[in-house]
Amino acid sequence: MYQPQKYRLYPFPNQERELLRQFEELRFLWNHALEQRIEAWRKEKRSLSHVDQCRDLARWRAYDKEGIGRVYGHVAQDSLARLHDAFGHFFRRVREGVRPGFPRYKREITSLTYPDSNGSAAIVPGRNGTRRLRLSMLGELPIEVHREPPAGRVKTCTVEREGDRWFAILTYEMEDPPSPPSTPPSAPIGVDLGLSHLATLSTGETVEPPKFLRRAEERLRRAQRVVSRRTKGSHRREKARERLARCHAKVRDQRRDFAHKVTSTWAARHDLIAFEDLSVPSMLGDAHLSRSISDAGWGMLRQMAAYKETRRSGRYVEVPASGTTQTCSGCGRLHDPPLTLQDRTYVCPCGLHMDRDLNAARNILARALAKIPGGTGESTPVETGPPPHRKGRRVRSKKREPPRDSEVAR
Ligand SMILES: [Zn+2]
Repeated sequence: MYQPQKYRLYPFPNQERELLRQFEELRFLWNHALEQRIEAWRKEKRSLSHVDQCRDLARWRAYDKEGIGRVYGHVAQDSLARLHDAFGHFFRRVREGVRPGFPRYKREITSLTYPDSNGSAAIVPGRNGTRRLRLSMLGELPIEVHREPPAGRVKTCTVEREGDRWFAILTYEMEDPPSPPSTPPSAPIGVDLGLSHLATLSTGETVEPPKFLRRAEERLRRAQRVVSRRTKGSHRREKARERLARCHAKVRDQRRDFAHKVTSTWAARHDLIAFEDLSVPSMLGDAHLSRSISDAGWGMLRQMAAYKETRRSGRYVEVPASGTTQTCSGCGRLHDPPLTLQDRTYVCPCGLHMDRDLNAARNILARALAKIPGGTGESTPVETGPPPHRKGRRVRSKKREPPRDSEVAR
């Protein structure tokens, strides 16, 4: 399994300049490779493969030594791999009939990744007990190691810029924890993520975002409005944009801290956690509710719960989302007529009278228990932890690249 760990970086001014320069090279590479794919298709009805593009890249790096040649080879290849993934997702969504979202040109790149750091990324001792992050082609960057790195081998390293701060996210390859025992879980929960409460547990507890976070989010919305009011290209707008970026960073940090707190508690108390599988957008119907905000929080909770549970040899299960709200958790009947968003209570002829989210959480738990060996139903393999860390697009999806706010292990 993989354990991510995030550290603050303090690059020297010349290192910072070099990083920004490499971001530019990678942005150019991405846009160029995207254009190549589009052209190949338009002119010759031919799909370029990842291998084709990597071969081109190697040639290009060889003669553009002062440009893309400055970027470590695997880092540049990783960028192409992401583009390849983006096309993969695009075609998959086309096949599934979901709104596809064609890969886009990038106006900015804020991170780069050493995808398989066989020594190309390592934390090394610096002067006077300090530490440095040694990166091939970039040198040794001052790093703040606020907690001892895990014992595993460094698998990937991502360097990213958030506003004016720099971070390194290292994923460590750890020995797999023992797999969950074959006995049924002793304290399982189902979690319904929603809008009226952040989360409702099948135990009846609810989780609300803390006040400080809601206040920070409100400040963020205000900062957003200020930016859009000001004249494009003006000095004042630039100022407002900087403020907005700081608000974003603040909200992101607070959300992450909060999600860590919540998921640590869950993982400590429960040996099975079940969520709805939201990779297929089941919420399209009520999608226009202020989704973007809660979305980010939900993704984080699921990701963190997954790896924390796995680390403790517990179970993390995702169940199909369809009908969890509409089904009675007592007798299995469907609500007729279907519950609307305004109905806060589920009332069933069988006598069940329950908060709608609690009812959904109970259904999620029941479906999860039916899925695991030793549960109540047939045995199917249980899904475990998140994939190794790959950071990139901002799209919040649970595919190859987990949302970046959720990467930090505690
Ligand atoms: Zn019922």
